[in-house]
Amino acid sequence: AHSVGPPASEPYPALSYELFPPRSTSAAETLWCTIRELEQTSPDYVSVTYGASGSNRDTAVDLLSRLLTETALRPLAHLTCVGNTREYLLDLVDELITLGVRGILALRGDTPKDPGAGPGDLSYASDLVKLVREAERRRTAHLCAGRLAVGVAAYATRHPESPSFDHDIEALLAKQAAGADFAITQVFFFPDHFQRLVAAARRAGVDIPIIPGVMPLTSVRRLDRLSELAGIEMDYALRDRLAAAEDDAARRRIGVQATVDLANAALDAGAPGIHLYTFNEHAAALDVLDSLQLRRPPVPRGLVRTA
Ligand code: FAD
Repeated sequence: AHSVGPPASEPYPALSYELFPPRSTSAAETLWCTIRELEQTSPDYVSVTYGASGSNRDTAVDLLSRLLTETALRPLAHLTCVGNTREYLLDLVDELITLGVRGILALRGDTPKDPGAGPGDLSYASDLVKLVREAERRRTAHLCAGRLAVGVAAYATRHPESPSFDHDIEALLAKQAAGADFAITQVFFFPDHFQRLVAAARRAGVDIPIIPGVMPLTSVRRLDRLSELAGIEMDYALRDRLAAAEDDAARRRIGVQATVDLANAALDAGAPGIHLYTFNEHAAALDVLDSLQLRRPPVPRGLVRTA
């Protein structure tokens, strides 16, 4: 059985959070406060982002290591292949397995803006899935309790570099064929976009679980940045409602409700769980969780791993 990734037969939807490695001491303090709050909700796993080209390798590995040794949480390590050699990536996967990581989200990463940066040995996330499976085969003795759970990205709206939505579905199928166990979606703003993705993926032969990635949409700035950076189609009605809100508390209520509506629609459409993009903040994420009634009892302290 996999230790990370959406459970196949749980009576409740799978629950996971995305965190990013802190960039300063004060950011680390906020993050650890968030981690302790989120830990109380007993998620299936927490994912840790990774800078494209490995720009934050040390802080990512450090956070993964601390999650494994100081909390009851199971980490899913994001890994990007853009700009890196096969040897570098095999070595990193090896390091993660040795650390105790049992789940990897295999991504391509965004193309570096620096024109001098090389493309690396691998072109697509599907190549990285194959490489992770290769690294796994070399380490079967270490993984005697099972295999790695390997996740990939999926897009409810067209990936900005993609010629079409159908092309993205082909890319998802290739990632499944390469050995992916599950997919997590990029943020989306319209509930029917998730249903459309799942329907098209199933028609094309993708049968792995597809988890909707949802983000508490509590600020106009966040909405703008998302649609600018990730090329996501904007929900202008929500943007107007947030812009007209009288204060932060009202904005938070509006944003949380919009996120809950998105998550509920995805769950109604058969999503096996939800993945919450937290921005390392717990308050809005917990509001969303409570509205969805997805909070679970904390794991007893005695079960926290110490080594
Ligand atoms: P791919 O699946 O390789 O797709 C990239 C593009 O190539 C797409 O347009 C696709 O249609 C096309 N394509 C794929 N295969 C082929 C093929 N065989 N032939 C032709 N075209 C093909 N970025 C980070 O830097 N760090 C992170 O931690 C991170 N975490 C993320 C987590 C999630 C859940 C998601 C959804 C995204 C995350 N990203 C992260 C962003 C991601 O790296 C970018 O969206 C990136 O541009 C594409 O990554 P991918 O893994 O989807 O790539």
